[in-house]
Amino acid sequence: MKPYIGRFAPSPTGPLHAGSLVAALASWLDARAHGGQWLVRIEDVDSPRCIPGADRTILQQLADCSLHPDGPTRYQSQCGALYQAALDTLIAQGSAYACHCTRREIALAQAQRGWTKARHGDLVYPGTCRPHPNPPAQAPDTAGARASRLAVPDDDTPWPWQDRALGAQQQVLSQAVGDFVVRRADGLWAYQLAVVVDDADQGVTDIVRGQDLADNTPRQQWLQRCLGLPTPRYLHTPLVLGADGEKLSKQNGATALNTKAPLCALKLAAQSLALPTLEATTVADWLSQATRAWADHWLPAQD
Ligand code: GLU
Repeated sequence: MKPYIGRFAPSPTGPLHAGSLVAALASWLDARAHGGQWLVRIEDVDSPRCIPGADRTILQQLADCSLHPDGPTRYQSQCGALYQAALDTLIAQGSAYACHCTRREIALAQAQRGWTKARHGDLVYPGTCRPHPNPPAQAPDTAGARASRLAVPDDDTPWPWQDRALGAQQQVLSQAVGDFVVRRADGLWAYQLAVVVDDADQGVTDIVRGQDLADNTPRQQWLQRCLGLPTPRYLHTPLVLGADGEKLSKQNGATALNTKAPLCALKLAAQSLALPTLEATTVADWLSQATRAWADHWLPAQD
């Protein structure tokens, strides 16, 4: 078995909040419980959404909580050549194609087919620009301000996948998302492509992250299949809800996290992870007790 490598991959769109600390803590605990490595990757490909300095704040917040990575921090903004190589592979094998549809055109094509469903604001792509199965020989059209999409299997067979917390899952890619964007029309790399390429390049064996990301997993596993990359294990952690019962965001209390009181912040995060109450009075003791509790709960019993 490959040595365990886990990661925490925040987008620097603001400081860590209570929800993101849960994902950070869970991924750290899982790596420590497995005797593995834990890496931090700053996912700054969506540059218009990034806040200058948020990366440093996040790294400081992790350090305040004694969640120290086992290697240098990786920045996705510096990995464009890797993403380009992956896209070139997908284009060469005929699975990615250029798409010039605007959002409006996609909505219109959807309406013409009687589709009304949008998924998290993302429109299920109706396949307008998808090349015909037996196209006349021609070079792939990648010029101009075009997005690149990855074709998903067009049958209605569910994509099955396994989550350590959620159990058996499935998604019909063609119905849930359709052919999805791997490079945006503005030239920015899509999260789906960057995350898959980086996880493989960094040798990540285990992805532990918030449950809000769970429904990206089939797309990411499909990309892994297309690129011939290994599929890691997945564990999606429960979401922290704000006082209004909605996913925690800056609007409903997400800014309240204070890592200058790290023990309090960690104890609060642990409540979402079904860890027992631990009596430790220092961060170091608490983290080592929490690692044992995590191992008892999440690691299969050794004979
Ligand atoms: N960068 C993503 C986020 O902050 C997380 C990506 C991942 O863990 O796969 O939501």
